[in-house]
Amino acid sequence: MDKKEALEKLKIEMEQDKNLPLYGMSNLVFGEGDPNSRVIFIGEAPGFHEDRMGRPFVGRAGKLLDKLLEIVKWPRASVYITNIVKRRPPGNRDPLPEEIETYKPYLTKQIEIIGPKMVVALGRFSMAYFMPDAKISRDHGKAARIEKYIMVPLYHPAAALRSTQVLKALEEDFKNLPNLLNNVDNVKIEKPTEKETPQAPLF
Ligand code: URA
Repeated sequence: MDKKEALEKLKIEMEQDKNLPLYGMSNLVFGEGDPNSRVIFIGEAPGFHEDRMGRPFVGRAGKLLDKLLEIVKWPRASVYITNIVKRRPPGNRDPLPEEIETYKPYLTKQIEIIGPKMVVALGRFSMAYFMPDAKISRDHGKAARIEKYIMVPLYHPAAALRSTQVLKALEEDFKNLPNLLNNVDNVKIEKPTEKETPQAPLF
């Protein structure tokens, strides 16, 4: 089974899993992009537009993500984009800890299938999923090695739409992603624990 088929199988499993929170309340937004990509972008949860279209990052935040991808010359279809929680929480509220936990095995499997070199965590929820004690204002743009890939937390594009300062930081961090990807093997191995946080840029 190739990666595309494995992802399709996982998607069907998710669609049929009635134990997943938000099941029957909103549509599954599984994720999309190149299953062979070296980079996965992971947001929090789908919003209104994503729920309607069944695709991640297609609303205003998604348009900004598209622009940022254009800047670094990574066509959207060449990367993989998904979320931690794969159904829209009502009223776009923040995902609950139990929702994140219950969707976790699926995201873990999805990452395992794709086998990326770099995971870009969009926003603090996504970042906290990988590094619970990291702080987005301090650690954005810094790479840390997690298992077989590096994780780079970035500000969420929706936050950048609300603040020009955040937008600037997000643009700067984004422009550095190709450089981080090219140097992926030089990132120090750092197995994060509950207590550890990345203290400084690793390169
Ligand atoms: N925000 C997210 O975190 N994910 C989406 O898919 C859309 C907006």
